[in-house]
Amino acid sequence: MEAKRMAGVALPSSSHSPFTIHHSPSFMRQAHLVEPRRIELVTRPVPTPGPGEVVLKIRAALTCGTDLKTYRRGHPKVPFGPFGHECAGDVIAVGQGAHRVREGDSVVPTPTAPCGRCAACRRGRENLCERLFDDMVLGAYADYLLVSAKVASTHLMARPSTLSYIESAFLEPLACVIHAWNRLRPEPVEQVAVVGLGAIGMLHIAMARAAGARVVAVGRRAERLQLALDVGAHAVVDTEREHVGESVRALTGGVGPDVVIECTGNPTIWMEAPRWAATGGRVVLFAGLADGTHVAFDATRLHYDEIDIINAFHFRPQDVEEAHHLLATGGISVQPLITGVRDLDGIADVFASLDRGHGMKYAILPEPAAWV
Ligand SMILES: [Zn+2]
Ligand SMILES: [Zn+2]
Repeated sequence: MEAKRMAGVALPSSSHSPFTIHHSPSFMRQAHLVEPRRIELVTRPVPTPGPGEVVLKIRAALTCGTDLKTYRRGHPKVPFGPFGHECAGDVIAVGQGAHRVREGDSVVPTPTAPCGRCAACRRGRENLCERLFDDMVLGAYADYLLVSAKVASTHLMARPSTLSYIESAFLEPLACVIHAWNRLRPEPVEQVAVVGLGAIGMLHIAMARAAGARVVAVGRRAERLQLALDVGAHAVVDTEREHVGESVRALTGGVGPDVVIECTGNPTIWMEAPRWAATGGRVVLFAGLADGTHVAFDATRLHYDEIDIINAFHFRPQDVEEAHHLLATGGISVQPLITGVRDLDGIADVFASLDRGHGMKYAILPEPAAWV
């Protein structure tokens, strides 16, 4: 059903903005996650930018698996309050000293930026920056968004002229996915199993395909398995009908994939994944687990078969640059991943529906009438 609905979604196709900016309202709507499973749309003043800050008129924001986790149970890194972090929009005000952009520029921010000075940053591990989550830009489900000076000076990217606001808002999730692929480099990847077919799993499938690998997608529900094939999987394994280990092995010439990418955020799958990889293979644990979760691995399998466990978290500036380039050049197509387009006023209903397992990734538009 999702695939059918998506086919009917009319996405803005050109780089032309349907809006003009000649009024400056003083109030705006902003969605707040007040506590698990309670979103309120509050009215608050449109922010004015301080030194180095930038204010955006939001044109599109995307729902995300991290948002859904936070909605259900809170998140160790994401506080309650202004909600949403994947978006694209137009600059309406620029604070003193914010040199990267000008009023009227069409841009896409990421929610965080590294400090560039701490020990992790100096080692080139900016995704592990001590101050990564300071000044985080949250509140994308809104009419306007204040971008912190830290993000505005590092990760406020021009919206590629080839892409709609909705498509360009994939910058942040794609940067996370590319970070994982950069952790796999420079060793070649020939056969990949992607386990878990949410939006992130689909982006990994598209990346694997772009990297020239053969891809087996592992998940459930007919519409997700079909979408996995549509975005580039060579074969699928239905976890509700098949034995995952046996099917994955059979589909990879009897040896198993050299890389398994875990995208379910399920501790049982974390523990199973090393069994599905080829001997000498690698497992990427991509989807984080709830705070305090412990997992155990088969030590014999890990040691004597040299299965490497790789963790991938968040992104570095170079991952953002690479994601921006890949989107801008059409290296992967993200439009099929949008389940539907919804009005900002319907944000609570959208998350209630995602919580029930309906839909994968919605675009939330403050002014939908002008788009579809
Ligand atoms: Zn996200
Ligand atoms: Zn740092």
